[in-house]
Amino acid sequence: MASTRDIEKAAGVLRGGGLVALPTETVYGLGANAEDSAAVSRIFQVKGRPPSHPLIVHIGSADLLGDWVEDVPTTARLLAEHFWPGPLTLVLRRGPRVPLVATGGLETVAVRVPDHPVARALLAAFGGGVTAPSANRFGSVSPTTADHVRTELGDAVDFVLDGGPCEVGVESTIVDVTGGIPSILRPGGVTREDLEAVLGHSLDVPSTSHVRVPGQHPSHYAPRARVVLVEPEKVVAEAELAQELGHRVGVLLPAPSPGDPVKAHAVVEIPRSAAAYARGLYGFLRELDQQGCDLIVASLPVEEGLGLAIANRLRRAAGPRSTV
Ligand code: AMP
Ligand code: MG
Repeated sequence: MASTRDIEKAAGVLRGGGLVALPTETVYGLGANAEDSAAVSRIFQVKGRPPSHPLIVHIGSADLLGDWVEDVPTTARLLAEHFWPGPLTLVLRRGPRVPLVATGGLETVAVRVPDHPVARALLAAFGGGVTAPSANRFGSVSPTTADHVRTELGDAVDFVLDGGPCEVGVESTIVDVTGGIPSILRPGGVTREDLEAVLGHSLDVPSTSHVRVPGQHPSHYAPRARVVLVEPEKVVAEAELAQELGHRVGVLLPAPSPGDPVKAHAVVEIPRSAAAYARGLYGFLRELDQQGCDLIVASLPVEEGLGLAIANRLRRAAGPRSTV
């Protein structure tokens, strides 16, 4: 776990224009000083991320929001009060402190106050904003441990802060509050139901069938193995058939699991609680890759609560790869 000295060192790396991998409650981020265009550009290079895909600016507290955006609409204030620090990202109109390189050229900016003691300590020690996408190569599975970051990015990062495994495990919910009615751009760690309870009205469920915002390409969050989604009751039969046909099949097995062992290369039993499933999801996908699976058979959970974010990530993991 990162010490106070590590935090000071990481803040120094950010001040010097370097890149720091930092734990948040959602996933690990690859952070740079948000106001340093050259450092922000390096994030895109290291990730192999197209420059049009905007990043999230992480700040230390909701009180600082006004420093980074043009104005703070009442809805944004309300959501920030309820959900920050936490896994909610608000898209607002960009303030002059945010360089265009961080927003992929957009006049809007995504901002979040993370809820992880190490991220919060780093933001306090550094004092500024930290632009950070997930600390993985573009399109692949987000890291939820410091080891995932080291394995995937190695020396490309100047310093890795270890904050243990991420508590939430999937990325933040992104809500666009620039228009009249807020809309969910990406489901995540704050549920649609919780947002609706605070807003007092219903919100649209985002569609994964077409690209709605930059960075939302069909294939994303994808392991090396191809992911196939089938009905929950067909997972076992589909997996065993593919294994018979010569694939090395990994299975994300929904409950209740069958009494007989599934004839596949590797089997992960899905935790019963959606929170535990979200926390484990990316680790499971990485594990199946590591075990040499070339095909992963899974099904979608019920799309309510955290199930909405899990289903969104699984759909993207299974999305057509030629469009990336
Ligand atoms: P990542 O942290 O790698 O998941 O990437 C940041 C996410 O924030 C991407 O899905 C972006 O599409 C989204 N994002 C960042 N800024 C904006 C913005 N101004 N408008 C819409 N989406 C944004
Ligand atoms: Mg990402």
